[in-house]
Amino acid sequence: MSTQKVVELPRQTMVSRSPFSGEVLREYEQHSDEAVEQKVQLAAARFQEFRELPFAERARMMLKAAEILEDEKQRFGEMMTREMGKPLKAAVQEAEKSAFGCRFYAENAERFLADEEARSSATRSFVRYQPLGPVLAVMPWNFPFWQVFRFAAPALMAGNTGLLKHASNVPECGLAIEEIFRRAGFPEGAFQALLIGPERVERVIADPRVAAVTLTGSVGAGSSVAAAAGKQIKKSVLELGGSDPFIVMPSADLGRAASTAVQARVINNGQSCIAAKRFIVHEKIYEQFTREFVERMAALKVGDPMDPATDVGPLATEDVLRGLEEQVRQTAGMGARVLLGGKRLNRPGNFFAPTVLAEIPAGSPACDDELFGPVASMFRARDMADAVRIANQSKFGLGASAWTEDESEQRMFIDRIESGLAFVNAMVASDPRIPFGGVKQSGYGRELSHHGIHEFVNAKTVCIQAAAGEKRSQTE
Ligand code: NAP
Repeated sequence: MSTQKVVELPRQTMVSRSPFSGEVLREYEQHSDEAVEQKVQLAAARFQEFRELPFAERARMMLKAAEILEDEKQRFGEMMTREMGKPLKAAVQEAEKSAFGCRFYAENAERFLADEEARSSATRSFVRYQPLGPVLAVMPWNFPFWQVFRFAAPALMAGNTGLLKHASNVPECGLAIEEIFRRAGFPEGAFQALLIGPERVERVIADPRVAAVTLTGSVGAGSSVAAAAGKQIKKSVLELGGSDPFIVMPSADLGRAASTAVQARVINNGQSCIAAKRFIVHEKIYEQFTREFVERMAALKVGDPMDPATDVGPLATEDVLRGLEEQVRQTAGMGARVLLGGKRLNRPGNFFAPTVLAEIPAGSPACDDELFGPVASMFRARDMADAVRIANQSKFGLGASAWTEDESEQRMFIDRIESGLAFVNAMVASDPRIPFGGVKQSGYGRELSHHGIHEFVNAKTVCIQAAAGEKRSQTE
């Protein structure tokens, strides 16, 4: 008989910590393996009934979810700001946008998933779209509501059930979203949050009851999740990072381009996948544009994200801050010029100074990697062809914007840029009505619009042959 003492390991916790003060807001115990098993079982069992509900029934619940988001947008906004530090005004807008996403799919899902008639040698052929089952969503903290709703609204409207593994630093948001769906009338198990760490994701993907997985996050996480899904031959969608170019040509309205450039860089305290990160400016206007851009970056008010006057709040976690600090240090060490900022601020909280880097060396982090914070990198281009060449040197291909009134330059940009989104004279943004996603290491698959709802359905081809003697549709 073994005399070894069984040591009970403390169950891992998830910590919700204020990025502004560093204070621990609350600790959440992770779900045990048994709890996860029960939730997966419930998601699978509920799917069998949920898929049978008419669209109108699911739409009624989804509209109720939208109503809750709108009615309590202030409370949800404060929750996001408290947990991950985005300015409160933007957080409240995020709750509103999540409501818009719910309404959009409540109103359009049935039309998007209607049978699609096709012609073949059969008497009648069509495509019928059917849900797949429980879908796991692995989500990031940067838009803690919007990222989840833009997965959940189409997935649930299609008749799937949802399992959410939210980022470990935003457990309160994850649980609040589960509660919104419950209060909206969705049946127990239609949408559940799993409080688990990344090391337990593969096991959930491997569970035969889980049909598919979507991940929004970094390239590393995407690669692990895609590998786990691939091993199981399961569908996956990846929305990963970006190092979006923002191209400015001489014919652009420079004032508008410069003010949008600042907004596009510091949105969400600089932590957005589609934030503009590389500013590629025609050499004729490079000095003028850069001067104006630096002045505007320097004028940003950095501070308490709850304060309505704040433009830039703290970064979400100490790790994000440390990572950014290291990327800037390395880039400067390789020879880049620091035109503004360049370091963390000497105050409590995860604050990094709005920063502008120029003369960026090839191979440096600012050139090759994603900088997730208020740090802009300036590049000089000879013309639009050169700007697009520089833009395409990135391993990423998420969003891109170009500022020019010249139609041939606009055409060249639209045709040649390697990205999932190409915006002309406008800031790249997501909108439920238009598809969203990337190419290259920014991922694959699309969210939003009718494309998004088609990711997690079985496009079932149906062919019906009429009895002998009946006319074939083709010959009619
Ligand atoms: P992250 O570290 O990759 O985390 C994202 C999610 O993946 C979290 O839930 C995380 O869990 C989980 N995760 C991390 N490593 C994993 C692994 N090996 N296996 C399974 N799950 C894993 O990214 P983040 O720092 O939260 O978010 C920032 C990144 O997301 C940026 O690169 C940004 O560009 C990207 N992003 C992309 C889009 C888009 O639509 N393309 C939108 C927003 C953000 P834990 O938190 O528990 O570690």
